[in-house]
Amino acid sequence: MDLAAHRDEVFHLELGEPGFPTPQHIQEAATRAMKEGFTKYTPNAGLLSLRKSILRKVREDNRIDAQLEQIAVTPGSVFALASALMAVAEPGDEVLIPDPGWPNYNMQAIVLGFRPVFYPLRQESGFRPMVEEIEPLLGSRTRAIVINTPSNPTGAVYPEETIEELLDLAVRHDIFLISDETYEKIVFDGSHSSPATLDPDGRVIAIYGFSKTYAMTGWRVAYYVAPREIAPQMNKLIEPFVSCASSVSQKAAEAALSGSQACVTEMVQAYRQRRDLVVDMLRAEGFEFFKPEGAFYLMVRIDKTGMDSYSFAKEVVQNTGAAVAPGTTFGPSAGPYVRLSFCAKSEEIEEGLKRFCRFYREKCRL
Ligand code: PLP
Repeated sequence: MDLAAHRDEVFHLELGEPGFPTPQHIQEAATRAMKEGFTKYTPNAGLLSLRKSILRKVREDNRIDAQLEQIAVTPGSVFALASALMAVAEPGDEVLIPDPGWPNYNMQAIVLGFRPVFYPLRQESGFRPMVEEIEPLLGSRTRAIVINTPSNPTGAVYPEETIEELLDLAVRHDIFLISDETYEKIVFDGSHSSPATLDPDGRVIAIYGFSKTYAMTGWRVAYYVAPREIAPQMNKLIEPFVSCASSVSQKAAEAALSGSQACVTEMVQAYRQRRDLVVDMLRAEGFEFFKPEGAFYLMVRIDKTGMDSYSFAKEVVQNTGAAVAPGTTFGPSAGPYVRLSFCAKSEEIEEGLKRFCRFYREKCRL
């Protein structure tokens, strides 16, 4: 990212930044909110009106049998995740995180004094978690498994049977499932399943956001649905660390949920076209990769070049202006890969990818 930032010409295939502005009606709701005086602290758990909209959404869309007390608004999913970890684990406890996975899971666990234990996600299994590979990693200090579907960086969408198996594992070992569902609406193949829908006994903390669904990354607003016994602990963490999410952003989020969802459908449709464009281009070049089922990322193998993913990513941006994320960012197993994101505009993706392919071909020839 630093290398890309210092170049005049960059094709952004490295960022998770939606290539759309926040929809107009959401922006207008924020302007109105400011004028109406929503410029002060809100209750820790968020504005009641927003929490009620969220309750309706999670009951209808996610089929979660939740009550209002289980829901709180946070400044981004990233803080919902941190408070989930803090609520279920003590320093020294172990938390299972996906490899490859979003790097913030590892960073948060380390900063909070937990021991992150990577569980493998393999391309040959569609990057889905395999219970038989996770179970041997569980020990007396394991408190939670973090799962992420649709997944960053793999683009895998876990089918319901995988979710059921993970829940069954959590029950057998009496641990929590922290379910990051930030990309729940960005699904191209299959459908999104949440473990919170099937939660048998209050062991799932589900995290949802506005950043990706509504192109609202800078507004910093998200929410969680936590079990009745855990929600009060998580809610208590909001005051000392963040006090509340931005009042204006909360009103914008309310407009996002209550307004037409056509904007979401349109953006997802555009992401699907971009996914297909990337898949077609990579197939034509003979790359080995997993076709993403959701989110807006794709993991592609670059190990035939004989380069490690970090050097590859560095050289490709320096030599061509195409910025990609090295696989190692996402976990120790992802060394043979780089992650391409396809949320930028189609023209940018196409030109960036052409340059990426040319660079790859040259490196394979050497
Ligand atoms: N979870 C995953 C898997 C992500 O990829 C991201 C952002 O890239 C987030 C959470 C952060 O979302 P938010 O902007 O709501 O904090």
